Parts: sequence; C-alpha cells; structure tokens
Amino acid sequence: MVMAGVHVSIAGGIKESVSRASRLSCSSFQIFTHSSRTWDFPEFTEEEVEEFRSRCLMDLSGAPFLIHASYLINVATPRPDLILKSSITLNLEWELANRLGAAGLVLHPGSTSGEPIGEALGRASEMISSVVEKKLSGKTKLLIENTAGAGHTLGRSPEEIGRIMELVGHPEKMGVCLDSCHLLASGYEIRNESGYSKTMDQFLAVSPKGKVDAFHLNDAYAALGSARDRHTHIGIGHIGPWFFWRLLHDQRFSDIPMVLETPKKEGTPEDILNLRVIRRLSEMDNPPEKNDPVLNNLIDQLREFTPK
Ligand SMILES: [Zn+2]
Ligand SMILES: [Zn+2]
Repeated sequence: MVMAGVHVSIAGGIKESVSRASRLSCSSFQIFTHSSRTWDFPEFTEEEVEEFRSRCLMDLSGAPFLIHASYLINVATPRPDLILKSSITLNLEWELANRLGAAGLVLHPGSTSGEPIGEALGRASEMISSVVEKKLSGKTKLLIENTAGAGHTLGRSPEEIGRIMELVGHPEKMGVCLDSCHLLASGYEIRNESGYSKTMDQFLAVSPKGKVDAFHLNDAYAALGSARDRHTHIGIGHIGPWFFWRLLHDQRFSDIPMVLETPKKEGTPEDILNLRVIRRLSEMDNPPEKNDPVLNNLIDQLREFTPK
C-alpha cells in the first residue's frame, strides 16, 4: 500500500495539522513544529501532545508522520554561535518528535560555509550523534534528507550521506529521506529504468540497514543538475509522471511515508490534485501513457497553479 500524504500547516495548533491531513485522506503527513524562519521554539504542554497523539489515532488510524526540522539549523557550521543555536534547536526538535511519536525527524545535513567537506561532515556527524544519543529509546528516527546541491550544502550525494551515517553510527535510530526534486536537481537521472535503478541502489547502499525511510514527492521546476531547490506539481515539471509511477510500484518503498511538498495556497485544490495524480499512478499497472485521459486531465488542472 502506498502511504501518500502532504506537508500540512500547524496553524491553530499542532492538533489542527491532523485534521488537515485527515480531510485530505492522507495515509502519512509532515509538519514543522514551529515557524521555520525563527529560532524561537514554542513549549508544548502534555495536554497538547496528548491531544495530537489521540487525534492521530482516532482520525488517521495512527498513520505515520514526519517532522521537518527547522531550515535555520546548520549542523555542519564552523561558527561557534551557530553551532550553539543549531544544537539547542535540534535537541528540542528531537525531544518533541519523540514525545509526539513521529516516525522521523527530517534534517538537511547543513552547509560547509566554504570550509573543507571532510571537516564539515565531521562536525555535522558530531552534532547529530550527540542529539540522537540523548534519546535512544523512542520510536523516532533521525532522517537525513538528500539536498539539491546548491552552494555549499552537504547531502547532495550518497557518498556524503553515507559518510555521515558511518560517523554517527546508531543504525537503528538513523535513516534516509529522499526528495525526488533534489535527486534530479543534484544531477541524478531518475527518468528511465537504468538511471532509476542505479540511483536507488546507490542511495540504498548507504542507508542504515539498506532501507530508505521516507520520500518527499516533488516534481522539479528546474532541469537535471540545476542544483535549484524549486518544487513543482507532480507530472508538470522536469521529472514527469514516469518516475513517480516507477517509485510507487517499487516494493522496496511500499510501506514508508511519501509526503508531497508541492506549492500551494490557502483554499485552492493543489494538494487534492497532486494526491489524485499520485493515487492514479499507483493504480496503474503499466507505465503512464501519453494519452491517459484521467491523468492528463489532473495534470492540466495542476498547470493552472504552476508558480510563475
Ligand atoms: Zn524535501
Ligand atoms: Zn526542496
């Protein structure tokens, strides 16, 4: 079964995110625990945590969810002030993710700030292991996300992700979240069978226990190797429907969260349409044909919401 879902807002309190995911009939979802643009980390009372957990059980039958760590965190930074802030915030994210019962806390592995990559990978791994070791008993895994490869960001290749996994250890607490847009942007040809197989094998080989724990389903606004982190709707970008069809039929990924992070506005139907595309592709036994009327109709509707 495909566990498709959406990144949903926590406006009105974290419990409201569950209602949003439930209205979209998600079988997984993702949230930020606070605004990703500020270092302020809110306190969550035991009541709020309990309410969230019970809504997950009641409204979503305990569907797995991910927490995306704040974009401000840079686990690879050489700057002492940013090391301190990043480590405090990542500790808070990890503690809360475990309290809420998240399947994964998704983290971008930071930026070298122009310093040598080997040292940056060392700093990143040191901070990650010190955080993970504070709570080894919960069910949450810390998931390293592959990145689009812009600037000095780490995580653009299986080698970099594998090195972090090696240095951190704790394979039972660590995992990988693959973002399809970032794969194409960082130069991986995933749009044909040989490219797809090679890419997935490379990332699986460096993933703890040989298993990827989550996917971010995003089409890419920019071309192969662009290093640009711009998501677009499923089927209308440079990736196109074939990759998503292939992924949704790959038994190795059949029971993990697959979360859309596609563009949307309040009150418009992008999430519904993207989920319909995903569900349609997952129902198709054969690769999508150019003249599939249902799929084409959905993709045509999504084109109207393309960011300009
Ligand atoms: Zn992502
Ligand atoms: Zn992205």
